[in-house]
Amino acid sequence: MDALEAVIEARRLLENVTPLKTDCGRTCGGLCCQPDEDGQGGMLLFPKEEALYENLPKGFCIQTDGAVLPGLKLLTCEGTCERQDRPLSCRLFPMLPSPAGAVMDRRAWAVCPLMASGRRGLNPAFVQAVKEAGGLLYACPEHAAFLNALHAYNERLKSF
Ligand code: SF4
Ligand code: SF4
Repeated sequence: MDALEAVIEARRLLENVTPLKTDCGRTCGGLCCQPDEDGQGGMLLFPKEEALYENLPKGFCIQTDGAVLPGLKLLTCEGTCERQDRPLSCRLFPMLPSPAGAVMDRRAWAVCPLMASGRRGLNPAFVQAVKEAGGLLYACPEHAAFLNALHAYNERLKSF
């Protein structure tokens, strides 16, 4: 499976499963979809995922962002989207695949109330889907490098 096929399959695994069995966005007001106080926001695209956005949905914008790895693409939006357009990072949030399965994504502490209860508070089907997606992403060198860079970035966040 090449990088594009892997990201398509990972997105499919997370198409219909969400962090809670109910819509968690109703309880927090969809905080992870809102820009921060500086008007910044957005989600990093996985390698090759940009190919799925040749026809950008209304309100979506893609720019280069080198904070985690040089040349990565950041997708920004206007705070709403159709589920089929949702990038993989949004589908995984607030978790991140890890070599051993799946962990809470440290970047989510800034916005997500689900972080306090951790993975035990999440929908088990969601956790399982993140693990399965991680299994096929880690089998692809480009995605493994991206995920490793995200984990390294999250480690650096510990010191702040
Ligand atoms: S911030 Fe957390 S609880 Fe709120 S919509 Fe996003 S994932 Fe759900
Ligand atoms: S792309 Fe969709 S899910 Fe992701 S932040 Fe924007 S509105 Fe939220």
